[in-house]
Amino acid sequence: MLSYRHAFHAGNHADVLKHVTLCLLLRKLNDKDKPYFYLDTHAACGIYGLNERFAALHKEYLSGLQPVWGSTELRTLVPEYYAVIEQLNVAVGRKVAADILPSFYPGSPYFAASLSRECDRLTFLELHSREFAMLRDNFKRDARIHCALQDGFKTLPQLLPPPIHRGLLFIDPSYELKTDYLAALKAVKTALARFNTGIIALWYPVLGRLHDRSRNLVQELKRLRAPLLQVEMRPTAQSEEHGMCGSGMLIINYPYQLYEHLEDCLNVMYPLLCGSQGSAKLRILNEKI
Ligand code: SAM
Repeated sequence: MLSYRHAFHAGNHADVLKHVTLCLLLRKLNDKDKPYFYLDTHAACGIYGLNERFAALHKEYLSGLQPVWGSTELRTLVPEYYAVIEQLNVAVGRKVAADILPSFYPGSPYFAASLSRECDRLTFLELHSREFAMLRDNFKRDARIHCALQDGFKTLPQLLPPPIHRGLLFIDPSYELKTDYLAALKAVKTALARFNTGIIALWYPVLGRLHDRSRNLVQELKRLRAPLLQVEMRPTAQSEEHGMCGSGMLIINYPYQLYEHLEDCLNVMYPLLCGSQGSAKLRILNEKI
């Protein structure tokens, strides 16, 4: 049984990096008039109340959303990120200002739903029944969106190639099960085989040395020889123990200028989110052919 609930981590440093990257990817897709397909294989519920039970317990957003919220530089570089957070808070009747931390934080489905257009089609998959019930409820009025209570890894092959031949596959597992690493790799391989022009974005955590599997995952993905970009941010030093010290995104078939846009964002986010023991990586692991 799944026990992971994303609300405990809503708005943390990993969410900031992941959702800023998602906004940049959607911006690229929106650059052209042609419609696209968006698949979120691990969607969770889509909306988080930062003052509510789970998120309020450890307040992880204090070392993620809070330090970047007042940044005019980051707001200029990725205005979509701020616009979506503001839109959500306005929609639920909250006051929005640069000096007031938002009460609600959007998940990846909400960013995608808000930034995509009428012509685009979106599918959100989620396996946890409670998360799914909230997800379905949050997006039930949007006819462009299909939500399903399904295993994202198992369902992904059935949805590819999509009827629309442009798209973004957003794979954001909780890695609650150790098998998720292998399943994620397999999902990427299948996605490349069935939809080799699609953008694939895979999130991964950086854990303590004893448990970390990120280096292995990165090497395995590099061996696929598809165009591959890595962005990673570690706000704290990596210890021997469990805890997550950072996170990253691996982007296959990365769009033109994503590297430059991420570089600008990282230059601003790094001093806001990382301590003296922190580190970051941005690199092209496989060039475009
Ligand atoms: N993408 C979300 C966001 O950025 O707002 C967060 C997703 S959270 C990290 C991972 C989610 O995947 C959890 O809600 C968990 O219940 C769900 N999950 C775990 N295994 C799954 C699977 N095999 N298929 C679909 N969902 C799964």
